[in-house]
Amino acid sequence: MKNRIVLLGPPASGKGTQASLLGAVFGIPHVSTGAIVREERAKGTAIGLEADSYASQGLLFPDELALRFIGHWLGSHSRFIFDGFPRTLGQATDLDSLLEAKALRLQTVYLLELPDDEVRSRMLGRLTCSSCGSVFNEKFHGISVEEPCPKCDGPLVRRQDDTLEALDHRLAQYHEFTKPIADNYEAAGLLKKVDVRFGRDAVFQLLYNDLREAA
Ligand SMILES: [Zn+2]
Repeated sequence: MKNRIVLLGPPASGKGTQASLLGAVFGIPHVSTGAIVREERAKGTAIGLEADSYASQGLLFPDELALRFIGHWLGSHSRFIFDGFPRTLGQATDLDSLLEAKALRLQTVYLLELPDDEVRSRMLGRLTCSSCGSVFNEKFHGISVEEPCPKCDGPLVRRQDDTLEALDHRLAQYHEFTKPIADNYEAAGLLKKVDVRFGRDAVFQLLYNDLREAA
């Protein structure tokens, strides 16, 4: 059974959802830099506050800082599904070194692929309930921002960072940083590409079967 896994993918590709589902079914910790950072911030550690200053400016963490967080976390874990890490080739190389120091290695990398147009339509149609936090999509769920939340009747809002300009910037950054990481893992024979247009359940089944087969 493979239990050191990385999920790469653009915004709205569902990588967080898949990582969470797979983690739950296989009992592997699903972790993102964001989750580790939130934990350190909640504890009020120095490294948590440092990360906060980058996050509040909407900046990517420098490789060096992300490495410290992951290194700290790997001190007490040897199985993981990383979601959104590594974000740069530098972080990917650092992850290899951290694992090597523990005589471990990465076992598989899934690249979730979604065309940019589909990312735009998924992201720009997102409405979030400001009461219960549920996320809906105008197109998929057939609702508009004027309507109440179908779950709790709370008010729906469009997040301010869900604008076309902000999204295109994120996408450009994603492609710029992810291409070299994917090429690197492909050369190492670890990369598997997954077309996520078929929806959450189909993608989950595919990933589930792939991990099971490796048992
Ligand atoms: Zn709600």
